[in-house]
Amino acid sequence: MKLATYMYNGEEKVGVISSDMKSVTDISQLGLTYASMEELIRNITDEEMVLIKEKLPTAEITDLADVELMAPIPRPKRDIVCLGINYDEHAKESSGFTNIQYKGTPAQAVYFSKRVINAPGPFDFIDGHSDIVADLDYEVELAVILKKEAKDVKKEDAEDYIFGYTIINDISARTLQSQHKQWFRGKSLDDFAPMGPWIVTADEIPFPPELNLSCRVNGELRQNSNTRKMIFDIGYILQEFSAGLTLDACTIIATGTPSGVAMGMESPVYLKEGDVVECEIENIGIIRNTIVCGK
Ligand code: MG
Repeated sequence: MKLATYMYNGEEKVGVISSDMKSVTDISQLGLTYASMEELIRNITDEEMVLIKEKLPTAEITDLADVELMAPIPRPKRDIVCLGINYDEHAKESSGFTNIQYKGTPAQAVYFSKRVINAPGPFDFIDGHSDIVADLDYEVELAVILKKEAKDVKKEDAEDYIFGYTIINDISARTLQSQHKQWFRGKSLDDFAPMGPWIVTADEIPFPPELNLSCRVNGELRQNSNTRKMIFDIGYILQEFSAGLTLDACTIIATGTPSGVAMGMESPVYLKEGDVVECEIENIGIIRNTIVCGK
């Protein structure tokens, strides 16, 4: 099932995307009253999930062209948990820029957090902050969304904690990322976490996910890999990161990006005003955002 947050007639709604991905059904039409995606994730029951599938074929639909898709969780309550350097080829290309020298496949996962007050939707404009950022970069990533509180998770149980998956572009300001030692600021400027186009529930994607993911800038392919190439997979991440640390329901985990980012090029071609960045993950969809200066 694909669940989206969207704006329709000036109202924020949560809905179910049709199988042909051309329309959406407001969950209130299906007998559910959750006011937001986070409320739905925290409270929805297995019975209600079944009910949605039963009622969907005959429920009222709205053409997707008539709604504005938003990030599935537009205002995350927690910082996003991010994996750095989680694909080997990206580890190589990042050497030198992120203060982490490449000495073979990393033995330890790199965790950092990303502040998000308002996540841009899948087709929104993104402020590139050109007044303070000269090296704006893109990172296509598979994002995992937890459905319940997670602590001391065993990797063989990891799947039980996952509500679904979405796409995130972990937009990064490379100098700000590296010059302050911690990556927090360079990863957390406003608009740096476009997400969507919706959440695909975990039952639709075999675990662990082995999905092609790619990023194009103005139609030019920059990143192209598969999530099976993660150094630390989702089970490993959940087991290690939840050991002694409670993760809330609705926590978003960005699982790292493959190679092909601008900072990895011999002559980096960073994002500039007017560039269109398209991130795609197999069986989830596409997000397409245009860079602007100031919003
Ligand atoms: Mg990243």
